[in-house]
Amino acid sequence: MLLYRTLRSFNQGYKLTVMWILVTAMVIAMFFMFVHPFGTILLFWLGLIVLGLAVLAGKPMVLIQLAIAKRTLAQGQCPRCGGGISQAQDDDIKWSCSHCSSQFRSSGEERRVMEESQ
Ligand SMILES: [Zn+2]
Repeated sequence: MLLYRTLRSFNQGYKLTVMWILVTAMVIAMFFMFVHPFGTILLFWLGLIVLGLAVLAGKPMVLIQLAIAKRTLAQGQCPRCGGGISQAQDDDIKWSCSHCSSQFRSSGEERRVMEESQ
């Protein structure tokens, strides 16, 4: 459960963190543009490499999270809170937790509930 929650938090903030790192690199590159043009070119290519590596590094983390979720759901437990899980009636949603009201698809993916985004 702790590993699932840690991975879930990591995966939720990962894309935004990568974006802000690259935006920061872009701002630094703009300052370098007139002072040291080679620094701008270097940061541009470095940014593209980091973007590619970040996409490649993010995929396994999501797959590990889904695998942990599926294993925990197969044991009849909610991956988020450890409470009992029940089969849902909705076609898209396979399991729902009565304790924390999380909903999971058959892939182990968690359905975003509107309450979370508020
Ligand atoms: Zn739960």
